[in-house]
Amino acid sequence: MNPSDASNLGKSYLRETKWQRSSEVIGGLSSEVAEVADDIDRLITLDMNRRGVIRILYDAAREKTGKPLVFAAADMIAKAVTPGSVVLVATGWPDRPWITPSIGELDGPPGAALLARSMHDALGAVPVFLVEEQLVPAMRATARAAGFAVLNTDEAIAAASSPAPLHAASVIGFPTTASEAVTRSERLLSDLDPKAVVAVEKGSANEKGVIHNARGMDTTSTMAKVDELVNSATAADIPTLGIGDGGNEVGMGLISDVIRRHIKYGDVCACPCGAGIAPHIGTDLLVTSTVSNWGAYGTAACLSVLTCDPDVLHTPTTELRTLREAADAGLIDGNTGYVTPGADGLSASTHAAMITILRQIVTNSLSPKGLATQKR
Ligand SMILES: [Zn+2]
Repeated sequence: MNPSDASNLGKSYLRETKWQRSSEVIGGLSSEVAEVADDIDRLITLDMNRRGVIRILYDAAREKTGKPLVFAAADMIAKAVTPGSVVLVATGWPDRPWITPSIGELDGPPGAALLARSMHDALGAVPVFLVEEQLVPAMRATARAAGFAVLNTDEAIAAASSPAPLHAASVIGFPTTASEAVTRSERLLSDLDPKAVVAVEKGSANEKGVIHNARGMDTTSTMAKVDELVNSATAADIPTLGIGDGGNEVGMGLISDVIRRHIKYGDVCACPCGAGIAPHIGTDLLVTSTVSNWGAYGTAACLSVLTCDPDVLHTPTTELRTLREAADAGLIDGNTGYVTPGADGLSASTHAAMITILRQIVTNSLSPKGLATQKR
């Protein structure tokens, strides 16, 4: 879209050219953007899989943030990320670890890959995905389906300044032991100078250091210790974003009091630790959604609005391809336990429809003939 075609909606965010930062691109939250971001928040928090927790989580996060969650997240990312800079994106959930640590779930990697695609497209970010070692192949397949050439990290960074376009990302394993995670985090920060840390559907530990699944069971040993990365990033003033859907994920420490009081297993888990699933530490910002992938898509949609470019959000076709490739790489639907495109008990067509609606919201908000303009 030519910026001159855009309504005033995202004007304060317009870059003079895509990927080129100007000093005045980031403005405050206009009422028009707030309305659109609110609608996106509402859409991605419809309790379509009848889990019964999203309203509690969303209301708490919204009260804490004081703004639409997808706006707060997209705004923070847009302000932090510069062209060619690295963004660390942690995801991956080893599911059914009592049988094998090798199975990962389909909520998380697609959202991580496609939000990364948006951050790359809108801001020139170089995504470096962090997953458990055994989930690296599936994450590579998922990132590739989202449109990235998956290279080693040095190559992915070099691709950002390639004379012919090459859209690259890297996928690396992240440790499951806390001490190694601390060392690795420090090294990633010093070697890669990341501008933001994002975690999508990633386990976070309670005050006793125990990470739980939504059923209140101990999944500590198989989960990469991304809390340590959040701690390191926070100490280094690097913005952190957590995206989750159940109350046990990275970022939920921001609303741990509400999780303890109102979410099943929040206060007392089903494991011997007895201390509940509520995470001990939070991120700077938290996006809660019915499916964690949707929180990533909603954030991408808001990045689309803020940069006045509907194509910053992926298409339904890319959504279907990403879910298909992720499933073909062995990831399972965490609800049904089937290796089938979809996530959290919702079909691939439902996820694609979510993208169709999000794109319509974005396009209408940016078009001079769109609903946002007609309302004025
Ligand atoms: Zn426990």
